[in-house]
Amino acid sequence: MLIYPVAEKCTDKFAAEIAALLACSGIRTHHTQFGDRRVIVADDNAAAVLPIIQQHSKSIEATLDVPETYQLTSKRVRPGGTVIKIRDFAVGGGHFGIIAGPCTIETEKQVLTAAERVKKGGATALRGGAFKPRTSPYAFQGLKLEGLKILQKAAEETGLVTVTEAMSSDEVKLVAEYADIVQIGTRNAQNYRLLETCGEMRVPILLKRGYGCSLDEFLMSAEYILAGGNDRVILCERGIRTFENYVRYTLPIAAVPMLKMLTHLPLVVDPSHAAGRADLVSKLSFASTAAGCDGLLVEVHPDPQHALCDGRQSLTPEEFAVMTEKCRKIRELLV
Ligand code: PEP
Ligand code: MN
Repeated sequence: MLIYPVAEKCTDKFAAEIAALLACSGIRTHHTQFGDRRVIVADDNAAAVLPIIQQHSKSIEATLDVPETYQLTSKRVRPGGTVIKIRDFAVGGGHFGIIAGPCTIETEKQVLTAAERVKKGGATALRGGAFKPRTSPYAFQGLKLEGLKILQKAAEETGLVTVTEAMSSDEVKLVAEYADIVQIGTRNAQNYRLLETCGEMRVPILLKRGYGCSLDEFLMSAEYILAGGNDRVILCERGIRTFENYVRYTLPIAAVPMLKMLTHLPLVVDPSHAAGRADLVSKLSFASTAAGCDGLLVEVHPDPQHALCDGRQSLTPEEFAVMTEKCRKIRELLV
């Protein structure tokens, strides 16, 4: 349950008073920033909390009963949806954000070529990995800081917003100095200390679904970030692990309309990691667009056959442009 103090009571002192009062009944509280206001999250339902806070009713502007375990992430809290806008990139609230680029930053030339071509093909954000989570410790781990500098240069030259992954709290802070959006990958989706660091940051976070996570678990991961005071979270459905082995993961398409019902956070779909093969990527993008996602995250490489990582699932810039145009037409049909 959420408690919104009146403006002059949005202090740590008042939150501590409420916390002490509720603690007597065994109810835990958490005080944080949510968008432009402070909110107290009480970890119990309205029936338990309301009678106890009655004595402070003049200091409380509103309360909101949220039956879900995730609170700040729930759609009830912001029924109109969260919009995240950075320069020409916008996602949520009717904006469709297209993020594209190579899996890994290899060279300056590769990234600049990819950036120019994905921009031409309809992307407003460029994604490339500098810190790569690889299954094998012997595989290429990314160019790290040098990669971040290349990405930043590509942003300066093209105006594209940048997205890149961080795998540790230190990396989150470093990445935030060079990129516009920090990605948390599927393998770290339940790394709660890392998510807490993301909550302390004011940079938008692109949070991928853990490949073994239920939707509730996925939303609770987002909740960690929101609980820290960072409500600029973009969810990314990227497929879950099933017994199927024709595809790399399985894209659960029902998750798209379901998440749109459960949360106010914008949702993009990554068809590239879900499929693991380029010939399915456009079709999964069409299905996801039709299902109502707020954007796409697609791997595009100027020369997929020679990509250092994930070439098999990367579109060429030409294929990408054809795909985005068709997605645009699908979106027109939806309104
Ligand atoms: C990636 O985005 O390149 C990546 C490794 O994704 P995921 O975390 O979804 O596997
Ligand atoms: Mn990849």
